Amino acid sequence: MSRDPIADLRRIAFLLERANEATYRVRAFRSAAKALSALPAGEVAGRAHAGTLTELPGVGDVTARCVAESLAGEEPVYLRRLVATEGTDLDAAATALREALRGDCHTHSDWSDGGSPIEEMALAAVELGHEYVVLTDHSPRLKVARGLTAERLRRQLDQVAAINDALPKGFRILTGIEVDILADGSLDQDEELLARLDVVVGSVHSGLNDERGRMTRRMLTAIANPHLDILGHCTGRMVASRPAGVKGPGDRAHRARTRAESDFDADAVFAACAEHDVAVEINSRPERQDPPKRLIRRALEAGCRFAIDTDAHAPGQLDWQRFGCERAALCGVPADRVVNTWTAARLVKWTSSRG
Ligand SMILES: [Zn+2]
Ligand SMILES: [Zn+2]
Repeated sequence: MSRDPIADLRRIAFLLERANEATYRVRAFRSAAKALSALPAGEVAGRAHAGTLTELPGVGDVTARCVAESLAGEEPVYLRRLVATEGTDLDAAATALREALRGDCHTHSDWSDGGSPIEEMALAAVELGHEYVVLTDHSPRLKVARGLTAERLRRQLDQVAAINDALPKGFRILTGIEVDILADGSLDQDEELLARLDVVVGSVHSGLNDERGRMTRRMLTAIANPHLDILGHCTGRMVASRPAGVKGPGDRAHRARTRAESDFDADAVFAACAEHDVAVEINSRPERQDPPKRLIRRALEAGCRFAIDTDAHAPGQLDWQRFGCERAALCGVPADRVVNTWTAARLVKWTSSRG
């Protein structure tokens, strides 16, 4: 029983608009729907069968694939990824998600490229109502960000223990790192230290233009590493746009500039994250917005968990989680897939179950 391909294309366009997706993406579906609706009866099916749909102006590979799936009686994959948000109040969903968060798994202090001491970050997190914050300063190879050597990280762990003793009961700084995923996929810190930390976020910061196959292998190697808990800002993109009222961050490492997404096989990477139970970070920084929504949807379909984090480099930036929650809500990410809705105890139990 075939579906109405034109109705499916229009439905996709509507849901993309609702999710505030880029205009060019919406237009692709609207144009294809228009082109097909102008054809005589039977020609759509005929062209789909002959593989000549893309010869029509306004019909590309993606829209042609949707049409073929509709005609075969299947809900197009593209549509299936969008319907998670159908009928939900997106604003209310974002608010509920933000309220469900108990902590933040990606933050920096002045030990690396953050602007404030650990105590100040922690006190701001307490005021926001968090139960924990994971301190994830950079690893040694990221010299521009004053990445911590093994020796400095050991000293930081002692300091965190001392600060924790002085903080209000019910709040804890968890130890962690944002470790560089090196060119061969290995992680840029001593094994023994990675095992000791509560949470390990791994990110690619160098060779972002690696060729697709190489970048995919690099990421898959890191994801298979039992120490990795969260895959940080997976595409490495930098976007120019910011939500209204948000000024550009003044910190060194995150100067506003645009950068294209790294190229990798997203389905393979997200399948590996699901298999190894590595959470995909939804980075809330306005200039990152990483991963883009279409990839959040693919990760959701792959069965991945998520962490909605700020990557804060200053205390006020700890309040940026709302941006990540909005994007997660637009993609239909449910709270029970988000690891920082968990208590600190459950989070640490999860991370230590793997290495
Ligand atoms: Zn980073
Ligand atoms: Zn970071």
